[in-house]
Amino acid sequence: MPTNDVVPIYTLAEGCPVADPTTAQRVGNSPVKGLILLQDTQLIETLAHFSRERIPERTVHASAAGAWGEFEVTHNNSHLTSAKFLNGIGKRSKVLLRVSTVGPERGHAETVRDVRGWGMKIFTEEGNQDFVFNNIPVFFVRDPIKFPSLNRSHKRHPATNLPDSTMAKPYSFHNNNQEGIHALMILFSNRGIPASIRHINSYSGNTYKLTTENGFVYAKIHLKSDQGIKNLSQDEANRLAGENPSHNTADLYNAIERGDYPTWTMYLQVMTPEQAENYRWNIFDMTKVWPHSDFPLQPVGKMRLNRNPTNYFTDIEQAAFSPSTMVPGIAPSADPMLQARMFAYPDAARYRLGVNYQQLPCNAPVSEVYTPYQRDGAFRYNSNYGGDPNYVRSSFRPIKFEGRVGANGYAPGGHEEWVGLVAGYSSEVTDEDFVQAREMWKVLGESNEQDDFVHNVATHLKSALPQVQLETINMFKRVDAVLGSSIKSVLSSHI
Ligand code: NDP
Repeated sequence: MPTNDVVPIYTLAEGCPVADPTTAQRVGNSPVKGLILLQDTQLIETLAHFSRERIPERTVHASAAGAWGEFEVTHNNSHLTSAKFLNGIGKRSKVLLRVSTVGPERGHAETVRDVRGWGMKIFTEEGNQDFVFNNIPVFFVRDPIKFPSLNRSHKRHPATNLPDSTMAKPYSFHNNNQEGIHALMILFSNRGIPASIRHINSYSGNTYKLTTENGFVYAKIHLKSDQGIKNLSQDEANRLAGENPSHNTADLYNAIERGDYPTWTMYLQVMTPEQAENYRWNIFDMTKVWPHSDFPLQPVGKMRLNRNPTNYFTDIEQAAFSPSTMVPGIAPSADPMLQARMFAYPDAARYRLGVNYQQLPCNAPVSEVYTPYQRDGAFRYNSNYGGDPNYVRSSFRPIKFEGRVGANGYAPGGHEEWVGLVAGYSSEVTDEDFVQAREMWKVLGESNEQDDFVHNVATHLKSALPQVQLETINMFKRVDAVLGSSIKSVLSSHI
């Protein structure tokens, strides 16, 4: 793309110049001659692209504003987590933040009484860390199967397509799922209509594990607005919904444009496994807070927004956040809502943006990526790992492995005896695996088919690289020494 200093030459998407994009090719050049031509690629491409400009809207969290910023470590956290972006006072990492309402469609008034979603991507040297939080510390349900129903209950009526502004319908859901009463009370407190994005806190709600080489702690994560909490009255919100429905987007954009960069302080509440076992509240229940008097907030770092998107669609609409995106040092707990969200969010991104959504510039990590078992797919536009093997366990492209086997951030003493044992497992090949093959070799001997077998294998292996031939011979030697050496001698006679 040309820089702003260079006057661009208008072209088709394929780069061919177009003399005048405001002109359509017609039969004759007078106003009454309106027949246009199929050969007018510029006109056809423009109309066809226009019809395809929209991508699927998020089912929830569709309406949002966002910005770029940075996260800075302000305290020593090395005793809690090995995550590199949280270690080293003064360390800074790039951040992308997207803050949304939940229920309304794109373009809806932003001053509604609704939870605010907080999608935050921290670009670290160990890959991306996503925090997908809310501006209330608890949630309406704790069983993931209820998640779609909860969200649909706040959507338009299926028959009338009307929003239920009296909240009668969502209340019907909440009345029948009363575990959400704490969240409902916060939603209907003054905090239910924030004055702006700059004036909200955000909370993990879910319980995470923070891990080090020595073990782990459970944690809830908080980001508190340094601008303070500010809310709108219902009357003020109603007025703005008519006069300035994009109030939240405008407030954030204008603050950043004038250099009034909003900041948030990040805190942790941490709990040992022993404390978790004996605590009054189930720590995997997202409808409960850990009162600060029991588990005080510990400051960690600061997040500052300092750059507006250069293009809303590429920077914010195409951004995808998932609780499953975790760096080493942060790990999932047995919180069932977290477990379900770890599937649901990447799945939504695959549907909305396509299977290669991680390559989009707003989502791509700043660290090196090497994942050659994810190949091809619609809209792959990196090198696709060239000729590297696309199968597991190749001898041709050595790969280094870091971290521990098991879930991301797996740490010793993971408290599995409490929640159920989780282990990373892949079967090992042992001599047992060769017993039946050896019997098969004997059967082939009884029917005089052993020579055919050796011939078949050797013919197939003829064109293979010497390393592959050697590995194959050694494998067949484990079945039977004679079999291996027979294949070897037939192959040598071919050379
Ligand atoms: P905490 O100081 O532990 O705060 C818990 C959470 O409640 C925090 O996220 C806090 O927000 C939020 N909160 C505090 N005041 C309000 C408010 N006016 N409107 C909306 N959210 C608020 O607990 P508190 O003792 O201050 O109690 C606050 C809430 O926690 C109440 O709803 C209470 O019922 C509930 N609670 C308290 C318990 C306790 O033992 N203290 C036990 C169970 C529930 P922020 O992050 O901004 O500090």
